[in-house]
Amino acid sequence: MKLTFIGANHQVTGSQTLLEWNSGRFLLVDNGMIQGDNDYEPVPLPVSPGQIEYVLLTHAHIDHSGMLPLLVKEGFHGRIYATAETMNLCAIMLADSASIQEKDAEDRTKKNLRAGKEPVEPLYTTEDVEKTMRLFRPCPYGLVVDVDEGLSVRFVDAGHLLGSSSVECFLNEDEKQVTMVFSGDVGNTNQPIINNPHPVKSADYVMIESTYGARLHDRAMDPIPFLVQILRKTFARNGTVIIPSFAVGRAQEMLYFFREIKMRNLLPERPDFQVYLDSPLATQATGVFLQCDSDCLDDDARSIMRAGENPIWFDGLNIAGTADESKALNAIREPKVIIASSGMCEGGRICHHLKHNLWDAANTVLFVGYQANGTLGRIIFDGAETVKILGEEIQVKAEVALLNGVSGHADQAGLLRWLDSMEQKPARVFVNHGDDENSQMLAAKIAEQFGLPVDVPWSGACFDLLRGEWVRLAEPVIKEKKKSSGQEKKRRQSKNQDYHLLIDACQALLRYAENMAGCANRDIRRLTQQVKALMK
Ligand SMILES: [Zn+2]
Repeated sequence: MKLTFIGANHQVTGSQTLLEWNSGRFLLVDNGMIQGDNDYEPVPLPVSPGQIEYVLLTHAHIDHSGMLPLLVKEGFHGRIYATAETMNLCAIMLADSASIQEKDAEDRTKKNLRAGKEPVEPLYTTEDVEKTMRLFRPCPYGLVVDVDEGLSVRFVDAGHLLGSSSVECFLNEDEKQVTMVFSGDVGNTNQPIINNPHPVKSADYVMIESTYGARLHDRAMDPIPFLVQILRKTFARNGTVIIPSFAVGRAQEMLYFFREIKMRNLLPERPDFQVYLDSPLATQATGVFLQCDSDCLDDDARSIMRAGENPIWFDGLNIAGTADESKALNAIREPKVIIASSGMCEGGRICHHLKHNLWDAANTVLFVGYQANGTLGRIIFDGAETVKILGEEIQVKAEVALLNGVSGHADQAGLLRWLDSMEQKPARVFVNHGDDENSQMLAAKIAEQFGLPVDVPWSGACFDLLRGEWVRLAEPVIKEKKKSSGQEKKRRQSKNQDYHLLIDACQALLRYAENMAGCANRDIRRLTQQVKALMK
């Protein structure tokens, strides 16, 4: 019974963990795509896709699910267990991902053929996604599902995205039972529409995410008064509020807020303001939200449903389906709200809206999510005076604002609370899904608060769950980055290596200290003094 760490170790995307049970049978927990600029190279899967019998999928985000169609293309034909909502969101998100892959391959093929080179195959196709969707087996929250001999699972609401889960694996081998819990992405409390994270009762081992393991969110503010103020100011200038938004999750939260503003008549001077949802993926995702099981919704959303209403639909919400409908929005002169993707303005219909609205001081661009370094969204947010959009130089005259306090991820306090809510604490905790700073900081906090052994393993490390010991430890493999100069690469490698040597030494010290239980008090005191002196 072994756990092999594959992806999202010391980084935040590409989640993937291999679990071996019953000597030689394999399952994967998540099979995500690496997104953005990861610092480390994950090891390849040590078994072929055809040897994997099951995938347990925590949620639909592409960094957890995005490689499933490739796994299927390469021979996986087992079953994928997830909640029905995760399955339904995957159907649209993986189809969207496949069409991006197909379009990208088509563009690169055109270029290659002109240069006398080979055509480019897409990573996977719409057909691979269709095959993948046939392998899903939906599971409700809270029910123990017998998957196979010696393997049962239970999905618990993780409160991060509609249908998101922590997964409890109940493993049985040689008459020994082990409960291994994967936190999945743990949600923030008091998000609209969905539930707060539910506690998991007990575990022998826990793998916990650490996206915000070193951070505390700003004190939650009520987003609705802030949105009312933005609408009021912009509409008084006869302007439009442009909202770049992630299509799944955040876009639906925004619809929930705008419905609240209308229902509570918080903008009495313009009660009929129009909101345009201009993203085919967001529109499809809204459909999944509208049809979801009421178990996935929080009390407020449920009571709206009981009253025969819909928590994310209201008079004045318009869907721009086709590209022509999207373009036609530019001709509407009345003040309005446009929600479009992508969330970081790196493509999609939002680029057209920015091109047509950024230059006009009457308008507002309202950011409602994280803007990564180097993205157009970040450049605008950081105060650029002009930006290049779709090949055109555009002045940034519109007001730029940020809606604070909306996050789909628990912060450090939330992650510690999630662990603390377990009645029986695990024997060991593994930390993943966070960059170096966040994963190490969360690990240190867990060790300090709960006195548990904690590891932040590197990709390729393997732990025996029955024996409770490492089979193999692994070293970081630093990713070669195309654009870095040789000198920059060397500097980064040496900086990273020094840092990792320090962390490894500290972890070895912690293991040494743990082994001192039962040693003479005099020796324990001496080591304590030496460590304290070191930290002065
Ligand atoms: Zn996620």
